[in-house]
Amino acid sequence: MDEVLVAEDIRRQYGDTVAVDGVSLSLSAGEVFALVGPNGAGKTTLVRALTGTTDVEGHVALFGESPTAVDRDRIGLLPQDCTPHERLTAAELLDYYAGLYDEARAIEAVLEDVGLADTADTWYENLSGGQQRRACVATALINDPDLLVLDEPTTGIDPAGRRSLWHLLSGLADRGVTILVTTHYMEEAHELADRVGLLADGHLAAVDAPDALVAEYGGQSKLTVTGEFGETVGSDLPWPVEQSTGQLTVYEVEPRDIGAVVDRLEQVGADYGGLSWSEPDLEDAYLELTGRDVTATAPLATGGQQR
Ligand code: ADP
Repeated sequence: MDEVLVAEDIRRQYGDTVAVDGVSLSLSAGEVFALVGPNGAGKTTLVRALTGTTDVEGHVALFGESPTAVDRDRIGLLPQDCTPHERLTAAELLDYYAGLYDEARAIEAVLEDVGLADTADTWYENLSGGQQRRACVATALINDPDLLVLDEPTTGIDPAGRRSLWHLLSGLADRGVTILVTTHYMEEAHELADRVGLLADGHLAAVDAPDALVAEYGGQSKLTVTGEFGETVGSDLPWPVEQSTGQLTVYEVEPRDIGAVVDRLEQVGADYGGLSWSEPDLEDAYLELTGRDVTATAPLATGGQQR
């Protein structure tokens, strides 16, 4: 399959901060690729590098051309900081963006796609935070792009709106649109992406299908029990355990084994309260690979902002 995007050994440094550190990546037509990582991991810088909106070391090609030479009609870009004029209505905003391209989709259809058909005539400043973000997503769809690059598209959007956006993006990918999306929502990456790149400190720690990442790095399922009991409460269980006063974690248990753990707690008279079973997920894989919690915020770099 033809490569839509190819990046080789991309690097971008701001002062002493290495924001992107030797990233190589290639995306095929119709693929949905999610770049995930906590704040400060380098997602936005990488998106800007891949779309030619910041200078980088390394090589980037979009449809075989440099990002600054490629036909802009083929690319849809949602930057993280999308701040349109507040006194434009959603429809006027799209009308403005439509004028930037040789050919554009019908404004009403794009508003419908992002769930803003009923607020087409509402000023941007009067839209809710989630609606504003959806209006921004619409600006990236107006030119019917072949490659869609969305930096944190669902930030601020409520869960229902987020799901409908995932549905929209999946539909576009089914029609052959290639999608690169950044997110710090692991569930989003898992649900939406064919492949996920786990980004930490500017480098890709791993790239694979989400299920494959979880299977390889996510670890085991676990049952966590909390309550008022001592630190030997699970000593006789036939599974690996981690225990401390008030918390017992039992690994490798399946849901059908939960009853046996509960029986054991009752036998020893443990006063247990919370009981939760979980399968490993992408967050566990990220933690295992990077030693970092993806929900953590990296410290802000010192020094001035540079373009
Ligand atoms: P993310 O999008 O994952 O939050 P960023 O790409 O925004 O990560 O940032 C990566 C690192 O580069 C951070 O340490 C950030 O502070 C730094 N950085 C990003 N943009 C700039 C800039 N314009 N000037 C200086 N430092 C920057």
